[in-house]
Amino acid sequence: MTLRPLAKAGSQVSLSARTKMVADLRREGITDERVLEIIQKLPRHEFVDESWRAEAYKNKPLPIGQSQTISQPYVVALMTQALLEGATPRKRVLEIGTGSGYQTAVLAELGISVFSVERLKALSEVARERLARLGYRNIHFGYNDGNAGWASHGPYDGIIVTAAAAEVPQALLDQLDKNGRLVIPVGPPQNQVLRVIDRKLRGFDTREIAAVSFVPMLEGRA
Ligand code: SAH
Repeated sequence: MTLRPLAKAGSQVSLSARTKMVADLRREGITDERVLEIIQKLPRHEFVDESWRAEAYKNKPLPIGQSQTISQPYVVALMTQALLEGATPRKRVLEIGTGSGYQTAVLAELGISVFSVERLKALSEVARERLARLGYRNIHFGYNDGNAGWASHGPYDGIIVTAAAAEVPQALLDQLDKNGRLVIPVGPPQNQVLRVIDRKLRGFDTREIAAVSFVPMLEGRA
């Protein structure tokens, strides 16, 4: 996979802050060099409100408005690594929960065609503008309830959900291609696990890889 250069690289200060963050991610067990390289170069400070920029390279979630948060870098790295692991190429990926667009950018940097769905119009629009400004062309934005997936562009080699579902939506399983993989946090607040579900010739293989804490996946759009 070839990595494309980013339009905007950011300042020296954010560069060294990112280097430290990547070292932390390595220490916490992230091993996929493609993912680490992308996090090293992505200007996370561009994905949060101005007032939170100083915090952008700490390994924690931050508010992005509308009571939503940009995911913790470790969790973004873990989910992306889980999606990529193994021999199946992931060329077309559906993301549910665009939010700030940071995870979206990580996927786009991998050369993936990304289909990203967000239920909050305000966030979807800000992310769309931001990612266009940063120079991405391989992202398609949907303003919709991601519980239904995005059938017209499916099936997908991978689906990443960045909000916690009470149960795995059937539509997402249906839109997985043969050997497709769904990475999704499932469960009530305080008790969520990150599930990795692989579509097999018959049925699905499921494993749980980490305890996580996401905002809930809601219904409808607003
Ligand atoms: N990956 C994003 C995470 C944002 S938080 C980031 O790092 O910035 C989760 C996002 O999922 C929120 O923006 C929330 O509005 C969105 N979301 C919640 N339920 C959804 C649904 N049913 N369909 C689409 N998006 C949803």
